[in-house]
Amino acid sequence: MNDTKKKAWQSEGVKTSGTPTLEELTQTPGFPSEEFLYAGPVAFIECVEKIPCNPCETACPRGAITIGDNITELPMLDAGKCTGCGLCLPSCPGLAIYVKDYTFEQDRASIIFPFEYLPLPKKGDIVEMVDRFGETLCEGEILMVNTSSRNDQTSLIKAAFDKRHFIGVVSMKRLVT
Ligand code: SF4
Ligand code: SF4
Repeated sequence: MNDTKKKAWQSEGVKTSGTPTLEELTQTPGFPSEEFLYAGPVAFIECVEKIPCNPCETACPRGAITIGDNITELPMLDAGKCTGCGLCLPSCPGLAIYVKDYTFEQDRASIIFPFEYLPLPKKGDIVEMVDRFGETLCEGEILMVNTSSRNDQTSLIKAAFDKRHFIGVVSMKRLVT
């Protein structure tokens, strides 16, 4: 894909590309409001299409995610209740939730994201952190790889990365075998 085509694709949003733009995300009820964005660990729910789905709601022990009786509604995050525990991450079949913490270190933020590709990284590895379009933004250091059977075969990866890319980073680049 050439650069012009890629830019158009990135700006057109979920209806054209299947990937929401940041502007679309900030208009959804699962994206933390400005007040909570940089205040500590918090879930980011990138769920933008109304589909019948609600396991994230029941997975949250704090009642921070609400969908309600009409399960095609978008999940609403009450960021004030969210502790960033990450328990909702493996519940989402769309891998649409991650936790970020802008306050992790002075120069680095952290992210916990679901990852279903092999091979898995190891603690201490330096990897490429990517945005929601899969483009590399910066390096990241792997801090934890959680492969607990409770996660239903979805690994949870925690990484630290340059906090200047706090909003953009959502995952890591797949490792090659
Ligand atoms: S990260 Fe934890 S507290 Fe926050 S919404 Fe998910 S399950 Fe709830
Ligand atoms: S589990 Fe995932 S896909 Fe389903 S409603 Fe929640 S965030 Fe959306």
